[in-house]
Amino acid sequence: MKVTELDERIHVVDANTDYLSVMKTIAESSGQEDPFYVLDIGDIVYKHKQFKQVMPRVYPYYAVKCNDSLMVIEILAALGTGFDCASKAEINKVMSVGVDSNRILFANPAKPSSHIAHAAAVGVDLMTFDGEAELYKVKKLHPTAKMVIRVRCDDENAQCQLGMKFGCDAETEAPRLLKLACTLGLDVVGVSFHVGSGCRNPPVFRRAIKTARGVFDYAKTLGYTMTLLDLGGGYPGDRGTSIQKIADVVNEALNDYFPEDAEVPVHVIAEPGRYYVSSAYTLACNVHSKREIKSPADNSTISHVMYYINDGVYGSFNNILYDHYEPTPILMNENKRGKFYPSSIWGPTCDGLDKVIDSMLLPEIELGEWIYFENMGAYTLAVASPFNGFPVPKVHIIADEKIWLLLKDTLPLTEEHFVFGNTPTNIHLGLDIDGNGRRADVQHVWNMEPIEINLPLALPPITMTCRDTQKSSFDSFIHHVDSMHQ
Ligand code: PLP
Repeated sequence: MKVTELDERIHVVDANTDYLSVMKTIAESSGQEDPFYVLDIGDIVYKHKQFKQVMPRVYPYYAVKCNDSLMVIEILAALGTGFDCASKAEINKVMSVGVDSNRILFANPAKPSSHIAHAAAVGVDLMTFDGEAELYKVKKLHPTAKMVIRVRCDDENAQCQLGMKFGCDAETEAPRLLKLACTLGLDVVGVSFHVGSGCRNPPVFRRAIKTARGVFDYAKTLGYTMTLLDLGGGYPGDRGTSIQKIADVVNEALNDYFPEDAEVPVHVIAEPGRYYVSSAYTLACNVHSKREIKSPADNSTISHVMYYINDGVYGSFNNILYDHYEPTPILMNENKRGKFYPSSIWGPTCDGLDKVIDSMLLPEIELGEWIYFENMGAYTLAVASPFNGFPVPKVHIIADEKIWLLLKDTLPLTEEHFVFGNTPTNIHLGLDIDGNGRRADVQHVWNMEPIEINLPLALPPITMTCRDTQKSSFDSFIHHVDSMHQ
């Protein structure tokens, strides 16, 4: 049991309570001033179901860098994903919740030597490379590693470009690297690519899969029989987005270039990051200060209003700088009317760079009012700092009863992972598990009949271990998750 802090526990809410009502309840409670997140676990479970449904041949390895919350890792581990780790610390974190080393891909093509040695020591064998130096290091420190060559294939319109840093050229560099690997006696088991984070051009996946096919074929001439294709990340995860178009392209390209009935079956994996977590997190911020700028010509006319909120670019909104996030503030008081002014929104620190919204028309906001931002789960908390002494926001984790019933009996979570009826700040969430409006008796609730649920066998094909609970059919899982979201 890893998640023991009260604040990190899952708060079970009733069917009429969603992330927005929880957020409002917390914001309206007396004494609440600090910014906070609401994390809806059901959203992550639903995303997993979607991924498996639209790309049944592809096994997701969650990219931990995107959001390394222990709770997220535990939930995904239990749902059966693998993990893409970038460092020794990420490997340790994933393994600390009981994930077997053979469910981990060390997907950083340029690794510090000590991290390679650590991977060898803990049994993480699968790792990517895109240069000669990496091959020499691996030969010395982890000679039995299973290497995956990363090739470059970019969506030039992606939200975040990665190709300028990683990925060798499939035609000019890959052959030389494969020959060197062969000379060194290293085992190269597959090909990976990453089209760029936040892909906006689904057809690029076809080009990348075709490119990978070429590398597989060349490797064969050297005596390698590759069995792993890694589609990387890039899948959108915001509310209202869909991975269907990417899935259509991927499925068709897999059929064309890596058919299921091929003589040598190829295991297909992906490294989704933002897809799993973006929409699951909503951030609430308090307006703690404001300045009205008067028009120089007419000192009584407000030309612009500056609002100051308690999270900014040094905290969660680092994603504006690093992830090209475009924030859309939503007023928590949705009945707000009144005059609109050109407005800007600033973070809490003393740095002029700390600007969240440059300019937009907003109705006048009073001091102490709350605004919130959706799709804040990816590349936010993992990077945030408490610069100037402003704390990184707390995360309140919720799951509705059905998700809770699913989690409690199928995941390696214990009673201590759940809180019934109250948030850490003693706010009643309206939970009415016993049907009488009373706070449910925890023991009684814990002993409630489980809903019957079978988890998908979503393990990476090269993974050998599988918990008993995950050995049953995926169809049944789909059915149950569907019913939760109706
Ligand atoms: N894999 C690798 C190697 C990455 O560098 C990244 C992001 O930078 C990801 C996966 C996750 O990408 P995304 O969040 O776009 O799915």
